[in-house]
Amino acid sequence: MATSQVEPVVLELDRLEQLAESGYYNPYTLFDWPEAIEPDLPWMSESLTTLAGTEMWDELTREQQIALTKYETINFFSLNVHGIRELMSEVVLRIHDRTYAGVSEFLHHFIGEENEHMWFFAQFCLRYGGKMYPAQPTLIRMQRTPCQAGLSEYDQNRAGRAELLATPFAVFERNIREQLARILGPGGFDPARDIEGIMVNRWPHGYAPEYNPLFDPDVPPEQRAHVIARAPFGNITIANSDAGGEAYTDCAIDQAHRAVMELPA
Ligand SMILES: Cc1cc2nc3c(=O)[nH]c(=O)nc-3n(C[C@H](O)[C@H](O)[C@H](O)COP(=O)(O)OP(=O)(O)OC[C@H]3O[C@@H](n4cnc5c(N)ncnc54)[C@H](O)[C@@H]3O)c2cc1C
Repeated sequence: MATSQVEPVVLELDRLEQLAESGYYNPYTLFDWPEAIEPDLPWMSESLTTLAGTEMWDELTREQQIALTKYETINFFSLNVHGIRELMSEVVLRIHDRTYAGVSEFLHHFIGEENEHMWFFAQFCLRYGGKMYPAQPTLIRMQRTPCQAGLSEYDQNRAGRAELLATPFAVFERNIREQLARILGPGGFDPARDIEGIMVNRWPHGYAPEYNPLFDPDVPPEQRAHVIARAPFGNITIANSDAGGEAYTDCAIDQAHRAVMELPA
């Protein structure tokens, strides 16, 4: 394991170990779990629900609001169960590794306590929710900008676009699998087993070019290329964010408005 190449971990943990021993309680006998949650009460602070403070919350009936607090509580506690489970798996892998020999005693307490926390969360879900949500797949967004250092901005744009359109899916897939394996492999991630699907979006023309004083002539705004190019031509007027020299939707809206106002009466 990669962990055995790391410098030994040295921490002063005596006090934590003593507290873990003196404060030990039996979680399995600690509570008298009530038979059921009171039906008319929210399961969590309403202000913590995803819809709190929105119009959608007000559109729900009281019964639906209570149901939302229930399922969001079960969801949150299920997340805790899966998070603790994965954390414990990683700690267990290292507990008697040489790197962690000095903190091994404490890690035994740690695993014991985390196991109990996990049990509390799971008990609550199963007793009152009748279920626990399974560990969900995670969506990972990766991004690459195919720059060609040394070229001007516009030439980089052209070169990047050509590269993007000429790169087959198999190349993206191979790189994505290799990168995720390098980053997450030491934690147990297996690309062949753990990747459900890959989607590649090529955006070779998504951003309107903006005025860049590094490469563009230093001229007043009315002489910039996009301003000259958007001049009306007969009955034709020019909208689009390119016509504003900015890559954002508000610019596209402003330019559409301008183009409509320029139409001959
Ligand atoms: C990945 C990405 C993220 C972005 N994020 C943001 C953001 O967070 N905030 C923001 O404000 N902006 C963002 N933008 C920019 C924003 O999307 C654009 O500025 C905006 O969509 C431009 O609007 P538009 O109407 O000028 O052009 P477009 O939205 O590109 O519309 C042009 C339309 O013309 C159509 N068309 C093209 N050729 C023809 C033809 N020959 N005949 C008929 N139809 C044709 C196209 O199909 C398209 O529907 C983002 C852009 C990208 C690509």
